[in-house]
Amino acid sequence: MDQRKINIAIDGYSSCGKGTLAKAIALALSYVFIDSGAMYRAVTLYLMRHSVNLDDMAQVEQALAQVTVEFDVNDAGASVVLLNGENVEHEIRTIAVASNVSEVAKIQAVRDKLVFLQQQMGAKKGVVMDGRDIGTVVFPDAELKIFMTASVEVRAQRRFSELVAKGDAVTLEEISANLKHRDAVDSSRENSPLTMTSDYRVLDNSEMDRDSQFALAMAWADEVFSLIS
Ligand code: C5P
Repeated sequence: MDQRKINIAIDGYSSCGKGTLAKAIALALSYVFIDSGAMYRAVTLYLMRHSVNLDDMAQVEQALAQVTVEFDVNDAGASVVLLNGENVEHEIRTIAVASNVSEVAKIQAVRDKLVFLQQQMGAKKGVVMDGRDIGTVVFPDAELKIFMTASVEVRAQRRFSELVAKGDAVTLEEISANLKHRDAVDSSRENSPLTMTSDYRVLDNSEMDRDSQFALAMAWADEVFSLIS
């Protein structure tokens, strides 16, 4: 395979398996995987911990100036997000953070800060980033853009099983309501809504296993490599 570095954007609805696919592609191509949602979750956690009023822009901007978000690799080789140097990987996945993150992600000042960081991370290419606006706003020139979707039932069941396996006390109804809420807010917000342009390739994985999703995405990447080489 051609080793010219490209950027790969994976956008789509909540809990579609974007991260799982992005990680597998990054590993196969020796690219860097970046979970942009983790960055929105980390900022949300900070604002929650400091009881910042989201309607008070001066307060939000003051808080944002105190926040650093970075990635590190843990002993198991997995990417973890650091909030002001603290590993918050577990805490940002809780339903409490999930319930607030879409409101925080609506705020333009939050998006400006995180998009700037994301663009820096991808400046040298060789990045697989998943999120909601990666192919539209962060890397509009990404050579490969994938839009992932799946039925809400399938997504809720997957996320429920994941959280239960981690020992979290959640119900399927709660997860399903959270996914629907986030999809609605993410798709209808004024700033960088989740949307798909004609240059995306759609991957509906309601009835696909991980191996076939990976094979399809790698075939798309191969196509791109052969076009640009
Ligand atoms: O991907 P994940 O579900 O972890 O993202 C959490 C939330 O962060 C999303 O529901 C969305 O509100 C926000 N987000 C965003 N733009 C991104 C990534 C995530 O607005 N690029």
